[in-house]
Amino acid sequence: MNQDEFFMSKAIELALQGRGRTSPNPLSASIVVNDSNIVGSGFYSNNNDNHSEYYAIQAAGENTKGATLYTVVEPCFNNLKDYQCSNIIKESGIKRVVIAIENPNPNFKGKGVNFLFENKIELKVGVLKKEAEKINETFIKYYSTKLPFINIVYSMTFDGKTSTSIGDREWILSNESKNKLHELRLTYDAVMVGVNTIIRYNPQLNCKLVGGRNPIKIILDSYARTPTNSKIFIKNNSENIKSNVIIVVNNYASEEKINELIAAGAEVIRCSDEDSHRIDLKKLLNILSKKEITSILSEGGGNLHFSEINEKIADKVSIFLTPKIVGGKDAPTPVEGEGISLMSSAIEIKNVSYTSLGNDLFIEGYF
Ligand SMILES: [Zn+2]
Repeated sequence: MNQDEFFMSKAIELALQGRGRTSPNPLSASIVVNDSNIVGSGFYSNNNDNHSEYYAIQAAGENTKGATLYTVVEPCFNNLKDYQCSNIIKESGIKRVVIAIENPNPNFKGKGVNFLFENKIELKVGVLKKEAEKINETFIKYYSTKLPFINIVYSMTFDGKTSTSIGDREWILSNESKNKLHELRLTYDAVMVGVNTIIRYNPQLNCKLVGGRNPIKIILDSYARTPTNSKIFIKNNSENIKSNVIIVVNNYASEEKINELIAAGAEVIRCSDEDSHRIDLKKLLNILSKKEITSILSEGGGNLHFSEINEKIADKVSIFLTPKIVGGKDAPTPVEGEGISLMSSAIEIKNVSYTSLGNDLFIEGYF
């Protein structure tokens, strides 16, 4: 690892502190280095906040003269707002800027780099690009396709069951795995489940990490069957914000039931196929994208997961494999639906990685 990579890895580590708070903007952080010493740093943490370049330069003070600024995402440039960070960098006397990735947002992409280049600031773009893309994978997908990134997540036993045949799934995961699941809920804008998951398990779907913000909860519920006393409606006391529940119904769901859900605190969206009772997932993703929901953690059940995979809208799969066996042919499995007939047509998962979490194995891969 050379010096540029070393300081960029520090910036990427720092950027992760903004996890769950930057959407729809990417994760970024900046470090000012003068004479091989870090003299200022900052990370981006929320949408009303200054950007990381501003904090790093403020902290460095006079030490910016002749220094190098490392920043994960290209500095912003916007004609309407005094060129923002690109101009702050120019005014600070920084001599060299090292960038991991261009801004994935097409409104900013390439503009900061051009401005710095025109102002004769030494530039290096693409240092630890893969690592910076990985922490920003959901935003890159959102800005390049205008659709949310979908991560299918499930826990299963060694025999491939997500609960016992009578629907018990308490204590299926190690504490390390539970922590990882809550980290995912913190990182993603929303979690999505089918109504049977709500009726069968009554999950709260909150992020239980200290100080963690809760994801928006999206329930696919064709006939508005979500019980109004479900735990998803419980408000988060620590942040004192209204819980954010979106219930998606078809065109045939009863007005009366819909009004009950609205009274319980939900936003209800009607979104079905023209001539069937099915919820149209692609149409739904377009609606959610316009609400600036950039990423969705899909937490089941098996029919929803099969639809997401079959309709090619899923990007990633995250699996908690736990060393238990429950058996039972009626115990649910993570991907159900009608299935694929021939093994030669099976969906291949790419770039698979494996991590130990306590006694569990955490597996991630991409579609
Ligand atoms: Zn900026």
